[in-house]
Amino acid sequence: MIDIIRNIFSDSTNETTKVEEDNADENLNRKKVTFFNSFKDSILFIDSNIFMDKRFGILFEFLEDIDINIIVLKEQYQELYNIKKNTTYRNSKKGKSVRNAFRIIDHFQEMNKLTIKGLDIESDLSIHVNPVLIKEIINLVTESKKVIFFTEDFDLKIRLREQLNQKNINKNLLIVYSYKDIEFLHQIKGEIQCPNCKQYMVPYIEVEEYPKEEEPILSYDFSDDYGAHIIKVTIQLCSKCHHEISRSSTSYYDPDYYRHQEY
Ligand SMILES: [Zn+2]
Repeated sequence: MIDIIRNIFSDSTNETTKVEEDNADENLNRKKVTFFNSFKDSILFIDSNIFMDKRFGILFEFLEDIDINIIVLKEQYQELYNIKKNTTYRNSKKGKSVRNAFRIIDHFQEMNKLTIKGLDIESDLSIHVNPVLIKEIINLVTESKKVIFFTEDFDLKIRLREQLNQKNINKNLLIVYSYKDIEFLHQIKGEIQCPNCKQYMVPYIEVEEYPKEEEPILSYDFSDDYGAHIIKVTIQLCSKCHHEISRSSTSYYDPDYYRHQEY
């Protein structure tokens, strides 16, 4: 027990940790500002898969709060529609993902932040999304429009970059983001990455309380003999794998401590 207490106190008096934390906050802030500014006057394209990817929920939360113009091509919409149509089980992983995509599109369309380009009232079952998407994006940047594209598809990225090179277009007009570029949004939201399982989550807190035994109990100016000097240890645990993320402690005097305990 004394060892535990000693470790707790040596952790809480570590000065360099504080400086490192301040620097990390500053970096995070800079990253946020750069990311935020990149959306100014840009037209936004989002790969269909991203609408279906649960990890990007944090991105859509972010986009809700800023002024944006998302374009969904009718071919992309059709692609999602086809997935939905061909998914037999509504509650399968795929079924849920594709319903989530429609929920997001509906939500952003309702907020006037999303347009589906050229969507007919009837559906077309034979489509090739990527060539149309590349053409649309290249046309816009050729007209000197700023475009942001979210994708996890390397093939798409490579083809886009190749088109920019071939057509000698200013590369700064197109920003391609993937999950690694938005991961930091979790930190802004207060979610942290577990060093063990690498998941982003809100940790849960466990509190332990016990008397600080090495202090003589009655050296305090309290009339109540039942009291004790108490250490309260707060432990943050990963909500997914229960890995211990942090530990901090406070101490105080509880005049009724032994009255509540079975000693
Ligand atoms: Zn974990």
